[in-house]
Amino acid sequence: MIKTRKVLVVGGGSAGWMAAAYLNAALNSDGMRRADISLVESPDVPRIGVGEATIPNINHILAVVGIDQHDFMRRVDGTFKQSIRYVNWLHGKGEFYHHPFSRQRPGPIDRASEFWLRSDRSIPFSETVSAQPIICELNLSAQMLGPWDFGRPLSYAYHMNALKFADHLCELSTARGVSHYLDHVTDVEMAENGDIAAVKTKGGRRLEADLFLDCTGFQSLLMEKKLGVGWVDCSKWLLNDRAVTMHVPYEQHFPGYVRPYTTATALSSGWVWEIPLQDKRSLGYVHSSAFISEEDAEREVRRFEGSHAASLDSRIVRFKVGHREKAWVRNCIAIGLAGNFIEPLESTGLYISDLAAVMLAEHFPRGDDYAPLAFRFNRIMANRFYEILDFINMHFCLTRRSDTEYWREVRRPERLNERLKAKLDYWRVKPPSPADFEDQLLPNQPVNPLPSGGYPGDHRGPIDTATLWGYESYEAILYGMDFLAEECDAWYGSDRPPPLVLKNVIEKLSVVHQKLPPHHVWLQRIAGMGDYPVTQRRPFA
Ligand SMILES: Cc1cc2nc3c(=O)[nH]c(=O)nc-3n(C[C@H](O)[C@H](O)[C@H](O)COP(=O)(O)OP(=O)(O)OC[C@H]3O[C@@H](n4cnc5c(N)ncnc54)[C@H](O)[C@@H]3O)c2cc1C
Repeated sequence: MIKTRKVLVVGGGSAGWMAAAYLNAALNSDGMRRADISLVESPDVPRIGVGEATIPNINHILAVVGIDQHDFMRRVDGTFKQSIRYVNWLHGKGEFYHHPFSRQRPGPIDRASEFWLRSDRSIPFSETVSAQPIICELNLSAQMLGPWDFGRPLSYAYHMNALKFADHLCELSTARGVSHYLDHVTDVEMAENGDIAAVKTKGGRRLEADLFLDCTGFQSLLMEKKLGVGWVDCSKWLLNDRAVTMHVPYEQHFPGYVRPYTTATALSSGWVWEIPLQDKRSLGYVHSSAFISEEDAEREVRRFEGSHAASLDSRIVRFKVGHREKAWVRNCIAIGLAGNFIEPLESTGLYISDLAAVMLAEHFPRGDDYAPLAFRFNRIMANRFYEILDFINMHFCLTRRSDTEYWREVRRPERLNERLKAKLDYWRVKPPSPADFEDQLLPNQPVNPLPSGGYPGDHRGPIDTATLWGYESYEAILYGMDFLAEECDAWYGSDRPPPLVLKNVIEKLSVVHQKLPPHHVWLQRIAGMGDYPVTQRRPFA
């Protein structure tokens, strides 16, 4: 006989509702009731929702919860995301490269990057191994209007309104047995053994549980305020701590297409995201308050967008990059912004909340000894956090920009974390390949204890498990940022042939217009997007 454990999710942002929906589906849908799940959220504290981009792992939670893709896209103003287009990151002179989600394989051994390194680099690396950068530049959909008959399906994620996603999950979960309280938590009551016993609310409720999920956002009501679990600050490696956000409604400005990718354009003191939704574009200038004031950042992003942005409302979102010393302590687990945050350059916020829910379902207690489960959960979350941190750190530290104080600062050696430094040093000797992700003990990497990574009490450095960013993603960024340019001159001389584009990339692109409709046409026909008059055709940024 399985014991049903009471789980109380405190906080109803996207992290809280993803956790509630996922746990309910993963633990209770086979006829066993392992968890009795409730969620309490304050009517007084707004959730964060900026217009989010995701990574393809989002399809996992949709599948587990049983959400139909087209229905989902209609509900969350969703559009396809096939890539991130990085503009102005290397020199600040209009150059760009893509980090696409799909890549073709040339054969049983992948030597595509070796060929590219030996070439004159006259075609960007990603365009030689993937059809997706050009599919993106043509603003085409990731799906056909009819059934797919275009070879291996393209990988994609979505751009979405995360507030509507939380509402959708709330509706589904409450219909399937999750209890929902709209009430403000005012107090946390402790048990004698040091566990959390219950939370008390403004409405006079006392909500008991066996497990409490702290999903209360950056304020971390349970984990930080009550249990006193500290925050490990990582701003040394990622300087940004603010975003000026803005929405550009299509009613006011529709350029005539919907980009099937996220754009990240480097500005003077950070970068701006452009996330296309079905009814608007979301913009956010992620910047460092040490280098630009909020007022100047707002002026800069309005200038970037153009004259039609002069009258748009804007909002400042302040954030901190780092993680809880431990995400699971006693009977409390911090998920979402209460547990960690890395700036949104690779769209990993919702992913890491989702991962925490997946890991909790897998480590869900059967008995009363939570400590071994918490140890593993914390280890996995720390691994993944630092995996993301390294990857994002790399986008900044490889820049050759020196036009502003900000870009000069991010290039300084102390802004490069030592795990990433060990990787880059090694890759200057041997370019990245799958073997590098088998084990992360690279030459010259400090082992015990690592200055960055892990959590107190765990003396092994975190490792990349290659489930998120493998060598293919590293190659996209590294070669997009012209990594190994000098080394290749030395290895292969300066007189080199043009790059080879993989045969299956050329084949795909030769018929792409017959197969894939424009992205906005697909959205209008399948996902219910409105029909907007074109205001002005704006060239690519
Ligand atoms: C600038 C920025 C850009 C981002 N961009 C992306 C992106 O592109 N892609 C992506 O995947 N992610 C992105 N994210 C992250 C994503 O938005 C968050 O991870 C996500 O919103 C999860 O937030 P949350 O649920 O943890 O917190 P919140 O949304 O802050 O929710 C907190 C919840 O706690 C409740 N609460 C607070 N106090 C109490 C109380 N006393 N009693 C009861 N309830 C309470 C609130 O009512 C709310 O429901 C971004 C985040 C930021 C800051």
